[in-house]
Amino acid sequence: MNILGHLETVTRHRTLVMKHCFLAGIPFRGLVHDLSKFSPTEFLPGAKFYADGKRSPNEREREETGYSAAWMHHKGRNPHHWEYWFDVSPQTHRYEPVRMPIDCLKESFCDRVAASKIYQGERYTDASALEYFRSKKQMESLMHPCTACILGRWLEMLARDGEEKTFARIRRTREIECHPETCERVRARFG
Ligand SMILES: [Zn+2]
Ligand SMILES: [Zn+2]
Ligand SMILES: [Zn+2]
Repeated sequence: MNILGHLETVTRHRTLVMKHCFLAGIPFRGLVHDLSKFSPTEFLPGAKFYADGKRSPNEREREETGYSAAWMHHKGRNPHHWEYWFDVSPQTHRYEPVRMPIDCLKESFCDRVAASKIYQGERYTDASALEYFRSKKQMESLMHPCTACILGRWLEMLARDGEEKTFARIRRTREIECHPETCERVRARFG
């Protein structure tokens, strides 16, 4: 049990995400980012399974109990996670990914970059978040293709052109444009 350690990890994460959200033009989302982590359902397991702040307590909770109650509570209430965006399709009657609204996707980008900075520490570069995204093909394959496509483009731009240019582009983006060619490729790759 490490209450202060977990409190510090959450606060450090929120501060960094807030900074990114201001740059991305979504200040309000930055202010309320991850507030559900202060609810007892998320905070108590977070403190109980605290793992030096370098690793997610959810992973330890999963290893020990078979699932992470904190994570399920979190992803069900926080639309900046792509895992939130699943619903029953009226056509197939199965759970399928839904396109993320643009502001949620912007917040998700800010979240990923902040997490990479904290987990990578001194080894962090502008390519870190892209490398992590590309290493989790399994997850990419579960996302809605349009969501995966835009997120991949933003992460590539960050790796190539740096933060200033990328956040400026994200600020100007008003909706998720579908790039049928890339989206089809994503769909075909994982179909
Ligand atoms: Zn979150
Ligand atoms: Zn977060
Ligand atoms: Zn698309």
